[in-house]
Amino acid sequence: MLFSKVFIPTLREDPHSAECKSHTLLLRGGFLSMISSGIYAYLPLGVRVLNKISNVIRTHMNSKEASELLMTVLQPLEMWEKTGRIKDMEEVMLRVRDRKDRDLCLGPTHEEEITEIAKKYIASYKQLPVVLYQIQTKFRDETRPRYGLVRSCEFIMKDAYSFDRDQEGLAANYEKMLDAYQNIFSDCGLDFITVEADSGVMGGSVSHEFLVPAEIGEDILYYCQSCQKYFREDAPCPQCQGATTQNRMIEVGHIFQLGTKYSEAQGAYFLDNDGVRKPVIMGCYGIGVSRLLSAVVEQNFDEKGIVWPHRIAPFMVSVVVVGIENEELLAAATELIRRLESAGIEVLLDDRDHPAGVKFKDAYLLGIPYIAIFGKKYLETKKIEIEVRKTSQKIALGSDECIEFLKNHIDAYQKL
Ligand SMILES: [Zn+2]
Repeated sequence: MLFSKVFIPTLREDPHSAECKSHTLLLRGGFLSMISSGIYAYLPLGVRVLNKISNVIRTHMNSKEASELLMTVLQPLEMWEKTGRIKDMEEVMLRVRDRKDRDLCLGPTHEEEITEIAKKYIASYKQLPVVLYQIQTKFRDETRPRYGLVRSCEFIMKDAYSFDRDQEGLAANYEKMLDAYQNIFSDCGLDFITVEADSGVMGGSVSHEFLVPAEIGEDILYYCQSCQKYFREDAPCPQCQGATTQNRMIEVGHIFQLGTKYSEAQGAYFLDNDGVRKPVIMGCYGIGVSRLLSAVVEQNFDEKGIVWPHRIAPFMVSVVVVGIENEELLAAATELIRRLESAGIEVLLDDRDHPAGVKFKDAYLLGIPYIAIFGKKYLETKKIEIEVRKTSQKIALGSDECIEFLKNHIDAYQKL
């Protein structure tokens, strides 16, 4: 695709509103646009990354036989009265009344709505187990939105819900989700940890959190070097009494064994094979999809800009032609792009009539994993210079070798 057509409004300077590295780089790279505090629009490059992340999530959720649905943004408050969470969620819930005098809210989460759906359609043990998930926008009236997509009022979440006959079924689905989550965060290129957590306002017993070490994290854990474990409590290590170090973390996922809290409150019962009506046993599993963009950038940048992990990069190769008016260079670049695209590799060609310095600055800022350069060297030697964004490794190759090099590198990464 052409840089000039994608719409990539990069900024030369750090925006004044930016509060941390990921926020700065996502705004500067033209991935995001701040509409108001805590409210962001995703520009085309941001959408490409969001779609890549969503597809990673879909692949792993579908592999566990979870099925995608899409629930509503507007939710009737009656559902929330049944579970009593209208009080717990009071502060963050944005309420509205429509012209028919219906009391509604913009969904801050969807346990109540999914339970209404389960109640309506699940009647027999023969329909269980089932796992449903969605990728959708939610709203929370945050008093202090911060750090761009890390804590925003409007955000995209993947939330999944499991429905089982018994505790063993729930435990099995919970294990599957735990496994899917590890794969999802690994594929997104994150260095993350999994810890047992507090169920809090969701209720239930067993719960795990997925946390990404980052300077701006709002969760704090303490690490013991000798036990190689994280703990919630400050002071000596509870296992060896040794010293611990403080680590800030961004929460990117949280899973809960809910049990029957919602099904009992909302009357979601099924008929078991022993003829007894029982409440459906539930689990819920959340990932902050938009927050992942920020978390990934917090862990993957250098002084020049973002360094996207392969699987979620907006494009795989950025082609920079130094002197776009040179017909020989443009023809060679176009031919390389044609061959790469037919091999399924996504390429961005910087077709702007800008000085080379500007093009390179933007190529680094955008963080596309490989940069292919057509310039003086190509005219003299017919070799394309490839720069690996992450390592700054530079290598000059003929066009066949260049395609081999990129294919091999990308394949090797996919196998990781
Ligand atoms: Zn220890």
